[in-house]
Amino acid sequence: MTDRLDITILGSGTSTGIPVIGCNCPVCRSTDPRNRRTRCSALLQHGTHNILIDTSPDLRLQALRENIRHVDAVLYTHSHADHMHGIDDLRSFSLHSGKPIPVYGSTRTLKRVRENFSYIFDDLDQPGYIPKLNLYPVEIPFELFGLLIIPIPLVHGRLPIFGYRCGPIAYLTDCSAIPESSLEQLKDLELLVLDGLRFKPHNTHFNIDQAIQVAQTIGARQTWLTHLSHDVDHPCHGPQLPEGIHLAYDGQSLSLPAHGASPPVKS
Ligand SMILES: [Zn+2]
Ligand SMILES: [Zn+2]
Ligand SMILES: [Zn+2]
Repeated sequence: MTDRLDITILGSGTSTGIPVIGCNCPVCRSTDPRNRRTRCSALLQHGTHNILIDTSPDLRLQALRENIRHVDAVLYTHSHADHMHGIDDLRSFSLHSGKPIPVYGSTRTLKRVRENFSYIFDDLDQPGYIPKLNLYPVEIPFELFGLLIIPIPLVHGRLPIFGYRCGPIAYLTDCSAIPESSLEQLKDLELLVLDGLRFKPHNTHFNIDQAIQVAQTIGARQTWLTHLSHDVDHPCHGPQLPEGIHLAYDGQSLSLPAHGASPPVKS
């Protein structure tokens, strides 16, 4: 059996989702399915293991759409609502498996999980109706189901957050700068998923021009821009991007050899 690592874009949209409630712009009215964007999230699959990156408010719809029947771990990038507020939908998975789901993220992010969703950890009156989660703060590379997961420090406005690298794939959403030390950890990528919010500059996200520059610096074989706003029209703007750089869309997936995804053998 070949060792593969699969990634699926569960959501390619910015925090509002696209269409935006109440908006009549051409992208929000578009019939191109690639212009319909749920909130930002991705799924990594290795063997029988499903690793979810973030729990968007659209997690339930994403899980039904992609037929995700189990979640074996969650990696959180940061605690903003568009990346976390689907956390309650994890209960379907933990109830089904009968096991707690391991959840990884920075100390700061997991502190916010505990504070913002205290009912999950403190409300023992209805234990059957809450997700069962075990929180594991991480700062350095760690092993998960035989994969080496590398947290990649990013700057999101003034907030330090994590992207994640696993073997040939890096997922870097919500960033306005990438520290030099993080760039060092992003060499030899097959696939880079990168924040590219819109065309106008933004305080806390790369715009498309910045994302193109960063993508070319990192030099992955292909780059998918995600966290897209309704300024970005897939059929119109996608073909204008430089070679190897594409607009992500919901449901997009790629299977790669899991080359370099295994932890170094301990001696
Ligand atoms: Zn719109
Ligand atoms: Zn954010
Ligand atoms: Zn976001």
